Amino acid sequence: MDLNTRDSALNLLKKFINNGLSNYSSDRNYDYGPQNRTNTSNLSPFIKRRIIHETEVIKECLNYFKYSKIEKFIQEVFWRTYWKGWLEGRPKVWENYKKDIKSLKESHSFGIKKKIYLSAIEGTTGIDCYDFWVKELIDYGYLHNHSRMWMSSIWVHTLNLPWQLGADFFLNNLLDADPASNTLSWRWVTGIHTRGKNYLASEQNINKYTQNRFIKKKNLSKKSVIPNFEDFIFEKKRFTENLEFSKEDILLINSNYLNYSLESIEFCKNFKVCLLENSSNNESNKIVKKFSKKSVEDYLLQLKKKSVHVETFENEKDFLKFLFMNKVKNVYSFYPGIGRQLDILTKLAENNNLKLYFKYDQFDKLCWPYASSGFFKFKKEIPRFIENI
Ligand SMILES: Cc1cc2nc3c(=O)[nH]c(=O)nc-3n(C[C@H](O)[C@H](O)[C@H](O)COP(=O)(O)OP(=O)(O)OC[C@H]3O[C@@H](n4cnc5c(N)ncnc54)[C@H](O)[C@@H]3O)c2cc1C
Repeated sequence: MDLNTRDSALNLLKKFINNGLSNYSSDRNYDYGPQNRTNTSNLSPFIKRRIIHETEVIKECLNYFKYSKIEKFIQEVFWRTYWKGWLEGRPKVWENYKKDIKSLKESHSFGIKKKIYLSAIEGTTGIDCYDFWVKELIDYGYLHNHSRMWMSSIWVHTLNLPWQLGADFFLNNLLDADPASNTLSWRWVTGIHTRGKNYLASEQNINKYTQNRFIKKKNLSKKSVIPNFEDFIFEKKRFTENLEFSKEDILLINSNYLNYSLESIEFCKNFKVCLLENSSNNESNKIVKKFSKKSVEDYLLQLKKKSVHVETFENEKDFLKFLFMNKVKNVYSFYPGIGRQLDILTKLAENNNLKLYFKYDQFDKLCWPYASSGFFKFKKEIPRFIENI
């Protein structure tokens, strides 16, 4: 029997604090391969779902090490928060990305690149390291950060494929698939996130940080593509909440927020809690689907232990029937962040004349307003954020 996902996250954190955290800063860039992953925490699939919260990770690490000793790790945890805040203030970036994907998949111009695209997603490009990472991504649902950078760089600058399709490929196969970290990292690698900056993978860098695991010639492009750059204005997010619930209101669980804190579970007690199965994220990778299903099942068990009853629906038709029978007008959910999950909830509400309300996470409310420009400025606030968590 697999370990409960919450316990798995706590165990991983403990293991990382004991084995990886003290050397993280100097060791984190090495990708030693899928069987050897102690130099980073591997917590992202759990953090993404809030099974373990960023604040728990930070506080627990600070119980063992001084801030100055583990600053690099803490900054990395905040990178995720920063990317999310950056995207929340610029929702158009996600809207444009979705439009681009749709038109690229339909367009004639993509048709002529189809062969290269297929080799890129099947791992048959002939670039040994790249093909290895494709298989690793599909089989494990995970890639080391450096391999994500190399792979996306090869996709864009060597194979000359549109970044949006690469981001889509990642989003469909990563256990930690996160619309903000993923979309914005791909944009950064391509050169459309920060003016004048992109990321070009080099053979030398790959050899060094994979410890020469890939020996064949890679023939990587030494020249980057030059894309058009567009600025997006940051608009401060309004965290509007409606906390005057009525007894007909329901809370719909979403798989991006399976938070075990007392506060979240107590919040659920204000509602009839519902779960609409298979409504999350359109996951297609088998491993990702399995992990998501298990994460939700474990969370439901936890809610049950805490005396929160959950009505589960296998399909939308039954769920809508339930809403109708119970005269439900208002649907609450924990805010999932910009991305597929939010799109699904919004569409569900719009199509069925429901009012959708969100409960926001305190940590997000604290940090996101500071993601208006670069990470350098944001990271200056980290000590203050930590004082307030
Ligand atoms: C092209 C590309 C796509 C990416 N897509 C995603 C994605 O969909 N989801 C995702 O969670 N991360 C994404 N990342 C960021 C990063 O690769 C992963 O968060 C990290 O590899 C997860 O492994 P870990 O938990 O062992 O990280 P650790 O090194 O142990 O870091 C701890 C935590 O900090 C956060 N973190 C670390 N590095 C980053 C980073 N560069 N950006 C944002 N957060 C970070 C994660 O929550 C991570 O779990 C992407 C990076 C690139 C270059």
